[in-house]
Amino acid sequence: MTQNLHNTILNQVNTGVLVINSDMEIDYWNRFLQVHSGRAKEDIVGRNLFDVFPELPKPSLRRKLQGVFLLGTPTFSSWEQRRHLFELPHSRPITTDSEFMAQNCSFLPLKDESGQVNQVCIIIEDATDVCYFQSQLNDTMAKLEKSSRTDGLTQIANRRYWEERLTIEFARCHRHGGELSLIMFDLDKFKSINDIYGHQAGDLVLVRTAAELTSMLRTADLAGRYGGEEFGIVLPDTDLTQAMVVAERIREKIETTVFEFNDKVLPVTISLGVTQYDSSQKNHEKMIAQADAALYKAKESGRNISIAFELE
Ligand code: GH3
Ligand code: MG
Ligand code: MG
Repeated sequence: MTQNLHNTILNQVNTGVLVINSDMEIDYWNRFLQVHSGRAKEDIVGRNLFDVFPELPKPSLRRKLQGVFLLGTPTFSSWEQRRHLFELPHSRPITTDSEFMAQNCSFLPLKDESGQVNQVCIIIEDATDVCYFQSQLNDTMAKLEKSSRTDGLTQIANRRYWEERLTIEFARCHRHGGELSLIMFDLDKFKSINDIYGHQAGDLVLVRTAAELTSMLRTADLAGRYGGEEFGIVLPDTDLTQAMVVAERIREKIETTVFEFNDKVLPVTISLGVTQYDSSQKNHEKMIAQADAALYKAKESGRNISIAFELE
């Protein structure tokens, strides 16, 4: 009666059940495994585990199993550590990145009457759904994280993230010394572009400006959209002279780039203010204020120019 009950349950459960002996030979193989592997019990029972499943990580799994035999304590392997041990096709209607079933495996010691562990029962649980939904969740979180850092129109850093990074670079200089420069720039007479050519033309200018900017910077530099048509660039390990060279390069690039909208060439130039870190600045906001003051001077001097901040 008990044996019958065990057999019935073992063949009905939606879990793989496999028993091996201390010679690593398979003693039992339930219906779930037959169905998923397409291999009948008769072809499997009595054979060596590692011959039947050559994909198993032999040295590490052998060590794990020997531990269970010797110590008589169970052990586990989760899909998060290793996606699967046994190459069993999954039967999910969902698309996953693997054709094989993700698995949680338990290795349970089976003792004989004398208390000696003479077999290990391996329970193989299908974790494909959990694994799939977890990876979907990770992807979504990564996308969300990226979009929380990005300006929707220009696809460069938004003001919050950009300022956060400036704060970090500023704090680094404050603690360890080193160079740090900041460029703030603003599009010239941008209101007229909107007024004459329309808001869409204005948007296109913002998008193209951001793209040109990104293509010109080093990976360590960070460009961000500070406000409507004002941008900032954080330049780590850069002194004022080098930052002025970068600013002039960007100014020239924008001046010479042809911005076309509905077959019309738009007149686009920028004015830039540049400053560098010095230990008398209390915080990153002081740097922004200095770069802005220089930018204001650039506007006053007739626009399409880069000006370095100087203490009065
Ligand atoms: P200045 O050379 O002194 O900077 O003149 P300006 O016309 O550029 O300056 P002003 O601050 O008067 O105008 C900025 C304009 O930028 C006004 C605003 O409508 C426009 N603007 C801000 N954000 C956007 C945007 O996302 N898209 C578009 N198309 N226009 C924007
Ligand atoms: Mg402007
Ligand atoms: Mg402005």
